[in-house]
Amino acid sequence: MQPSTTIVLDTMLLDHLPAGVVVHDRNSAIVAANLAAQRLLGCDVQALIGKLATDPFWQFIHPGGTAMAVTEFPAARTLRERQAVADLVLGVPQGGAIRWLICNAYPVFDAHGALHSAVVCFTDCTDLKNTEQALQRSEQRLQLVLRGSDEASWDWDLQTQDLYYSPRWWSMLGFPADALPATAQLWSTLMHEGDRERVQGFLKNILASGEETYAIEFSMRHRGGHYVPVLSKGVIVRDGSGRPIRIAGTNTDLTERKELERRLTVSANHDYLTGLPNRRFLQDKLAQALAASARSGLCGSLLVIDLDYFKNLNDTEGHDVGDLLLQQVAQRLSATVKPGAFVGRLGGDEFIVILDPGAPSLQAARADAERECAQLAAVLSSAYRLGRSSHALTPSIGVTLFDGAGAVSPDSLFKQADIALYEAKAAGRNTVRFFDQSMQHAVEQRAELTAQLGAALDAGQFELFYQPQFDLKRHIVGAEALLRWNHPERGVVAPGAFIDVAESTGLIVPIGDWVLREASMRLAAWRSDPLLSKLTLSINVSAHQLRQPDFAPLALALLAEHGADARRLVLELTESQLAENVEHTLFTMLALQRGGLNFAIDDFGTGFSSLSYIQRFPLASLKIDQSFVRDCDSDPKSAAIVEIIIAFASKLGLQSTAEGVETEAQVAVLCAAGCTSFQGYLFARPMPLTQFERMVGDAGPRQGVCPPAGSA
Ligand code: C2E
Ligand code: CA
Ligand code: CA
Repeated sequence: MQPSTTIVLDTMLLDHLPAGVVVHDRNSAIVAANLAAQRLLGCDVQALIGKLATDPFWQFIHPGGTAMAVTEFPAARTLRERQAVADLVLGVPQGGAIRWLICNAYPVFDAHGALHSAVVCFTDCTDLKNTEQALQRSEQRLQLVLRGSDEASWDWDLQTQDLYYSPRWWSMLGFPADALPATAQLWSTLMHEGDRERVQGFLKNILASGEETYAIEFSMRHRGGHYVPVLSKGVIVRDGSGRPIRIAGTNTDLTERKELERRLTVSANHDYLTGLPNRRFLQDKLAQALAASARSGLCGSLLVIDLDYFKNLNDTEGHDVGDLLLQQVAQRLSATVKPGAFVGRLGGDEFIVILDPGAPSLQAARADAERECAQLAAVLSSAYRLGRSSHALTPSIGVTLFDGAGAVSPDSLFKQADIALYEAKAAGRNTVRFFDQSMQHAVEQRAELTAQLGAALDAGQFELFYQPQFDLKRHIVGAEALLRWNHPERGVVAPGAFIDVAESTGLIVPIGDWVLREASMRLAAWRSDPLLSKLTLSINVSAHQLRQPDFAPLALALLAEHGADARRLVLELTESQLAENVEHTLFTMLALQRGGLNFAIDDFGTGFSSLSYIQRFPLASLKIDQSFVRDCDSDPKSAAIVEIIIAFASKLGLQSTAEGVETEAQVAVLCAAGCTSFQGYLFARPMPLTQFERMVGDAGPRQGVCPPAGSA
């Protein structure tokens, strides 16, 4: 640049420039400033003349936000270093806002090359700066949204064609992050073929239309081969002329929502799993049947069919297998019922058959229903193929009859059939029960008991009965503690009448704690007795109790508190308890085992345990279910099951206990099969504590309390 002070000092000329100009002499004192400088810096030009660049008046705001004097900012340094400075952006506070200026400084040298003066030019860039800041803020917001959401996100620069997919984008489709080059081509390839044309057309329209946001649904192919329905929502960023330069947005996985929609819409009247009419539809159908019966005076019936131990299958094999079975049951029912009969599903494993009113009397309707039940039970009891395994089940059926005479509602008919079903279950399952009024009475009693159960614990109405257990030599080796409720009006109530109520209300937890405390006290008291101290004491533990996170420490603390020998305590669990929440159960059992406790599986053989995981649990014995023992002397199948269970126990190094032993013939079969311990009415019934202790004492160290073979 040519040094020329005359041009510099021509303020007339300077005043016509749009840019602000300020001239310093070599001592940094201002010698000239133009009108634009006055406007841009917001001060009187005359006031500037003579000021030093170091004057506090010369305060600028650095884009970083801090105030600084002109001597500090890089321009001053570069002036000393004799270089021109370009594009330094500085802020000047003005009336609450900031005016942003691009600041260029040029050194002017004299003929000897020494610094003569400096010219500083200011150009207003406030608008530009504000736009830039707004863009930055919206970019930050976008990034926050993309990063913070659980949705898959993507960002597509339309100018460079750079495409970014978030890790969730990849995982939603089953890929590791960045598994393939992120391109629009990939997106299009993975899109469902049937969606491709529609989505591309939509996108083209939306880009051309000037819209800023959009949303569209389509399906993407998962790496596993299935399709993932997604909701894609995007923002289109456009330049000043409205040309789209970028699209970014999120994809939401709609699989769950679609499934829910499908289930809801399969028809409000049909069951999504089996396609059978559902409860709502059945209610209408039953109302129609009742109306027809009232008109014609003919009788019909309602059957409720429930699959025995279905829950166990669900627990051990998983819900998919359970669903498969339910579908097959639905098919068999539909194919078997007589013409005019109506099949539906109430929910879970409960099915309904309505036999249309066609019988001239209730007796005839009953005979019809009996025939129908026998046929259905036979068809449902043959083996099911479920994937690679096969499964057998039995149904329990509750039946109620109706004639045109009674003013009975569909609801109360359902209730009656339910009560009959409950009776069929209570009678040992795999059976049919017809509703009668005495059942109704029993149900009402049950409801009353339920209401009273809550207060029974506080009122001290529970007691433990003790049923002795015997070894091969018929010596008492232990006892099972069985709960009894001393009801103020009804006398002794057996657990069958209240345990499942206690389970369903959660009361089983405090009741179970009480049993545990009693057992601890008992074992502690027995410790000092030469005979009683040798016995084991078994108690029944409910799944509810076992699920309590503090069950193990609580049990161990109770035993320690009373000074009981933990090695004498056996906890009886059922197979389905082991199948439920396997890891937690195992954890609890191992903690208790370390404390010395032993475990037995109760009612073994009824729970369809997966034999492979039985061995994972720290067990001491298996208790053969009463239903097999009952028939083992008369039914070769039961005898075979008993033999297999005992052999299985022995292979795993476990004891086997037969319960419900009532005859010597059963003992003979059990002994031949290698059973090692016995419990049942043949030997002794459950009895109060004092009686049990007397029995042990009377028998002495060589007890022989069971009747000799052949006398039973
Ligand atoms: P369980 O654990 O299978 O108990 C054996 C049941 O069979 C007892 O019925 C017992 O009295 C009965 N029994 C014993 N020997 C014979 C026999 O030779 N023939 C016949 N027919 N029955 C026999 P109880 O005492 O009525 O108990 C029924 C169920 O109630 C028990 O079945 C158990 O599941 C539950 N239960 C009993 N006490 C408790 C308890 O303290 N806590 C929990 N959670 N459940 C309990
Ligand atoms: Ca038991
Ligand atoms: Ca049992």
